[in-house]
Amino acid sequence: MKNNCIFCAIGAGEIPSFKIYEDELVLAYLDINPFSFGHTLVIPKEHSRGILDTSDEMLGEIIKRVKKVASHIKKTLPCDGFNILQNNGEAAGQSVHHIHFHIIPRMNGDELAFHNSPGDMAELDKLAKKLAIKN
Ligand code: AMP
Ligand code: ZN
Repeated sequence: MKNNCIFCAIGAGEIPSFKIYEDELVLAYLDINPFSFGHTLVIPKEHSRGILDTSDEMLGEIIKRVKKVASHIKKTLPCDGFNILQNNGEAAGQSVHHIHFHIIPRMNGDELAFHNSPGDMAELDKLAKKLAIKN
């Protein structure tokens, strides 16, 4: 695995993911330990650790895709709102050291605790097919 980085391997298609969007720069896929139904990660295929070592140009390209995917999720799922979360460093809760943006769908009054819990793989597979964005 390049860099020993799981998200590089997912971005390169070496490890499977519940993909919902892909283009030349980014991949978006469901988080396998979701905070909420439809919790999605957007990563650049190119490795960087966090926001400080990612170029402004790349950040601009990523955030455009985050918006595109979030907009699609909001239209496709029952979803009243969403959080965008991007952790930098272990102190901030970053567990995978390849920059990623979380899109966390929210429902009115859900009082979400932002705790990971293992997702149901069959449900994630079904959901990824429902959310798939065609280029
Ligand atoms: P963070 O705490 O911001 O580093 O978030 C890392 C996220 O990656 C967590 O929410 C994990 O559940 C998620 N994650 C780890 N491995 C995978 C994987 N193979 N596929 C999808 N999500 C993953
Ligand atoms: Zn990486």
